Amino acid sequence: MPSILSHMATRISGPSQLRDAYRKVMDNIARAATKSGRRPTDVMLVAVTKNASPDQIRTIVELGQIDLGENRVQHLQQRVAVLEEFLSRRRTMGSPTGKQTDAPAKVRWHMIGHLQRNKIKQVIPLVHLIHSVDSLRLAEELHTFAARTERPIEVLLQVNVSGEGNKFGVAPPAVIHLAEQIDSMIHLRLRGLMTMAPYSDNPEDSRPIFARTAELFEDVRSAKIGGGEFNILSMGMTNDYEIAIAEGANIVRVGRAIFGENEPPEPEQVRGGPEDEEDED
Ligand SMILES: *Cc1c(COP(=O)(O)O)cnc(C)c1O
Repeated sequence: MPSILSHMATRISGPSQLRDAYRKVMDNIARAATKSGRRPTDVMLVAVTKNASPDQIRTIVELGQIDLGENRVQHLQQRVAVLEEFLSRRRTMGSPTGKQTDAPAKVRWHMIGHLQRNKIKQVIPLVHLIHSVDSLRLAEELHTFAARTERPIEVLLQVNVSGEGNKFGVAPPAVIHLAEQIDSMIHLRLRGLMTMAPYSDNPEDSRPIFARTAELFEDVRSAKIGGGEFNILSMGMTNDYEIAIAEGANIVRVGRAIFGENEPPEPEQVRGGPEDEEDED
């Protein structure tokens, strides 16, 4: 059966398959980190839950995964709510299975997809790091919001190296200037860069994209932008995370390799209006 189906999308459903897939990804990350002269703990996994079921998300958290990523605001809101309920129940009553688990008391959510400016106030209270700042206007609005709440917001600047395949992100020649502008906004903390390579069957196609992004990362650092806090390079997904680590990534964002090729869950309607309405960008 596997030989017939191996070319098709696999569905990982059970907790034990998920655990094996997760361990394999963690091992691959550790190996790639070591190969590039770093420690396994120097590279952080963000588990991308956009196509995961609520059960899968609970399982990965029970396995000790702390950093989770979502690319859509509506999904993020739902998942945060579901998981918070689960974690608070666990805090008061222990694990539902009665088993010892590695579940953290808290998780950290990462916003990894394009952020519309009219969604800022919904997203900010939920997230630890925004990977996808891709314009001056978005940075300015985040800054205004952060000033009002008096809580600094940590951001990465998304770079679009290929100029194709993905429409969001800043072109390489604009990176330094925009990084300087964001750095001057006292309520934002510019922590690094993020990139996505265009989809390809050959992971090696991503290497030049990652190498160029790593170069830009060094350019910003040597321009003394971001103080000592500019130290995050977020790149690499299921197809190419090991190559990203070889090229210097210290955050990888992996979904399918952990959760399988699930159908995206139908989002239930939540308050806040239609998701896919673009704003005036
Ligand atoms: C979906 C997504 C990922 C993870 O992709 P996989 O191929 O499932 O690993 C990473 N980064 C971003 C921005 C995404 O939207």
